[in-house]
Amino acid sequence: MIWLKRGLIGLLGLAVIAIIGFNLFKTQIAERAFQRAIDQNAGVDRSAALPDGLHVYLCGTGSPMPDATRAGPCLGVLAGDRAYVFDVGSGGTRNLGAMGFPLAKLDTVYLTHLHSDHIDGLGELLTLGWIGGNRAEPMPVRGPTGTEGVVNGFNAAYRLDSTYRIAHHGTEVANPNGFGGAPDEITIPAGPGGQLVVFEDDDLKITAIRVDHAPIDPAFGYRIDYKDRSISISGDTIYQPRFVAASEGVDLMLHEALSKGMVQTIGAALEERGLRNQATIFEDILDYHTDPEEAAKAAQEAGVDHLVYYHIVPQLPVKLLETVFLGDSKSIFDGKITVGEDGMIFTLPAGSDKIVKSKS
Ligand SMILES: [Zn+2]
Ligand SMILES: [Zn+2]
Repeated sequence: MIWLKRGLIGLLGLAVIAIIGFNLFKTQIAERAFQRAIDQNAGVDRSAALPDGLHVYLCGTGSPMPDATRAGPCLGVLAGDRAYVFDVGSGGTRNLGAMGFPLAKLDTVYLTHLHSDHIDGLGELLTLGWIGGNRAEPMPVRGPTGTEGVVNGFNAAYRLDSTYRIAHHGTEVANPNGFGGAPDEITIPAGPGGQLVVFEDDDLKITAIRVDHAPIDPAFGYRIDYKDRSISISGDTIYQPRFVAASEGVDLMLHEALSKGMVQTIGAALEERGLRNQATIFEDILDYHTDPEEAAKAAQEAGVDHLVYYHIVPQLPVKLLETVFLGDSKSIFDGKITVGEDGMIFTLPAGSDKIVKSKS
């Protein structure tokens, strides 16, 4: 027993020395860690190490509901060396920065629709894209009817800020011609297909798809094809056969998801507490979103490989709740399912059928 006692005293002694040592050299340790972080991140394009292909950055997997773990809806897409952002909810731009998304390569922002949670990060994105990207012309922002008013509104709101930055950094750094967004409204002609190719070159094709988010009309989903890889993004919609048809055979489907059962339970609790207005909102949102099981059905019918839920309602503060959220989704869809989290990156290298998930 003596050897045990001595051993414990020895261990205790080492722990005390370690604590004293740490406190003595705390500043040096912190400085070294800071320097290492700078070496690894400052001015380093982390995306340069990625293979050629499609890369999806989950910069926001939440909804309008305040959520400590999920920013508003935001997806960054890298196709070869061109970068796109599809919707930019509040907090999305900060996540893009933390994830090493190359804002300097940002080509165009696409909007699915003009609900506040999909656009309330636009001012921040345009500002950082302008200054960080050393842009010489405004950022194209493409979306449904109404996009022009929204973008011009953001431009007006941030105009004064732009004058401060130009005065402070000079026109070489803050080129006045690069400030703000250049709106471009997409109109999908009426017809049964309800889709329109909005960009196409040898390697990349972007198709807008009319989805159903009534009374918000029009509202779009998108399909992106780059070389031999493809993804689709639902935007906000109910289960929509047009979106299913347009997503046929994509590698990765990103679908919004609202658990109707969970939302109904919250609504009932609000009603019971006499909060009629809030209860009404929870009742209303049931009719223009997709339950995870319905999204699983869409993925199954479209024959996709991997389904990622984003725009998640309600909040899932603990992972255990994902089981309730998913319901029977896993028996409805044969492929892989991921409940999206901010910071996830999906890499789809060209010339392969791999989908690699990582978390920044
Ligand atoms: Zn939304
Ligand atoms: Zn919406």
